[in-house]
Amino acid sequence: MEKFRQRLLKILDTAPELKAIMISEHPLEMKRKRIKDFLTDRLVSTFSDDPTIEPLEWVVARDAIRAFSAMLSIRNEKLIGHSLLQYMEDLIHGNDSWNLKKPSSGFFSELEHLLRGIIGNTGIYPVKVPAFMKHEGRKAAKLRSSDLSRMSRTAQRFIDRYPCGLDKSAVRRRSINKSRILKHYGATELEWEDWKWHVRHIVKDAETLGSLIKLTNEDYRAVKLAREQRIPFGVTPYYLSLMDYEEDRARDYAVRAQVIPSLNYVENMVSARESSEHSMDFMLERDTSPVEGITRRYPMIAILKPVLTCPQICVYCQRNWEIEDVHSSDAILSNNKLDKAIQWLSDTPEINEVLITGGDPFLLSNRRIEALLSRLSKIRHIQRIRIGTRTPVTVPQRITESLVRTINRFHVPAKREIVLVTHFEHPYEITPQSMAAVQKFKRYGMAVYNQLVYTFYNSRKFEASALRLKLRLIGVTPYYTFNTKGKEETDDFRVPIARLLQEQKEEVRLLPGTVRTDEIVFNVPGLGKNYLRSLQQHDLISILPDGRRVYEFHPWEEKLALADTYVYTDVSIHDYLKRLKAAGEETSHYRTIWYYY
Ligand code: SF4
Repeated sequence: MEKFRQRLLKILDTAPELKAIMISEHPLEMKRKRIKDFLTDRLVSTFSDDPTIEPLEWVVARDAIRAFSAMLSIRNEKLIGHSLLQYMEDLIHGNDSWNLKKPSSGFFSELEHLLRGIIGNTGIYPVKVPAFMKHEGRKAAKLRSSDLSRMSRTAQRFIDRYPCGLDKSAVRRRSINKSRILKHYGATELEWEDWKWHVRHIVKDAETLGSLIKLTNEDYRAVKLAREQRIPFGVTPYYLSLMDYEEDRARDYAVRAQVIPSLNYVENMVSARESSEHSMDFMLERDTSPVEGITRRYPMIAILKPVLTCPQICVYCQRNWEIEDVHSSDAILSNNKLDKAIQWLSDTPEINEVLITGGDPFLLSNRRIEALLSRLSKIRHIQRIRIGTRTPVTVPQRITESLVRTINRFHVPAKREIVLVTHFEHPYEITPQSMAAVQKFKRYGMAVYNQLVYTFYNSRKFEASALRLKLRLIGVTPYYTFNTKGKEETDDFRVPIARLLQEQKEEVRLLPGTVRTDEIVFNVPGLGKNYLRSLQQHDLISILPDGRRVYEFHPWEEKLALADTYVYTDVSIHDYLKRLKAAGEETSHYRTIWYYY
């Protein structure tokens, strides 16, 4: 432990006043009080235009002081059962050294950046004041304009790194892939255009997958184990054609990661299932379902789930606890249960919007979809029907003229709106076929939105921005960006909340307003969406020895009604940056991540 003690003391050199308090022999509670006084003094000095603090550093200092103050709160310590202050005390004074958890590099990195923030010495701003600030009028405008052009070019360089499925070279590659798949099945071009052919030929096993694209040994073992353990897995032939043949994941890594589980994921799923099935219901859907097939978390909106499966399964799916298998025939809600769910909607006049999701409702036949929309349309208080589907991405052949015409019959301006919410994850998923599917809805005047799940595989610098820009061009409006859920089995996908906040501030903010239309949200289990941009809706309340941050999320009802808050342990920023580095990223591009709380 001595080496950890020395490392901590070295970091405390960043803030000598704090170090003096921590190494003193005063009782812990006196130290707590003195640190609080120190932080108050720092806060006052940042607001009094302290000349030792660079411009804008005061904003970072203010936020860091606020975060550290929350970590010292006895209430917060009780809430999570851990005291950062006590932990530092034990490390420095050698108390309880046998039982003390070893501090990780992530812990030290967090602490160091926190202290740098508090004393206003982050070094994230250039020392030189931009030239335009020293001038006025046209001269200032020209200098500013060239600064902005420089920023735009930098952003564009990042954006251009990410391949798009509309690129001519990608279209060519996919055409070759399609021929290979058709040859494997002895099928025709006409069959390829038929969505039912794709659904009938969903690839569900490692052998077939391995004969159509190259797999690493680990991929093969993961898929094999998933199938043996009845963990849903499946890929439509169309989506398979989006994958490059080679297994190097150079271009298609996001596409492959979307459906090919890692061994780590499969093993975690197996043990999660063994320990408790309920633990995997991260969103506590069972506690928010007043009647089978319905979920309600908000006053005016309800979710209707007529089908509990999809043409293929996203590895991180929050519903993996209830999805039995890819495209399984018994995943359709029985007529009796559907009747009861629709009756519940009819009997609940406060609901004016229904989200039909699942699963993917476009697995239902046109006839069933028509019947469902027809019944919902008879409920006078339902003004909007949202349909959540990923078929424009997984099997765009499903979006036929007749399906769109059928749906459009219920889209009646001023009376009832039908909107599509789809789920593109990466620009490499956007293809001429998916664009055509979207355009069919647009031609009939129906809006198409996108819900993005922000995962490790689309979180590189400007990667999600590249997606948003392309989505707008094909007619899709970015709607929500979700933080990946805190389920252990999906750790491979999780991204620290700080990265989402950084992405919004430093990347998305550069895009035109018509493109940055989505809201970043954390879906609080059992409660619903928490707007991450609003500091008033969450607090960073601790850092654990393993470097993970602990947040307290407030329910959306905050200031409206009483409801529980939710404590959430994030993934470590240090570990995330390590993974990015291993994936070839220059981590200095992400250096400000520590200053997002
Ligand atoms: S499309 Fe949605 S419901 Fe279907 S597997 Fe993916 S995340 Fe789950």
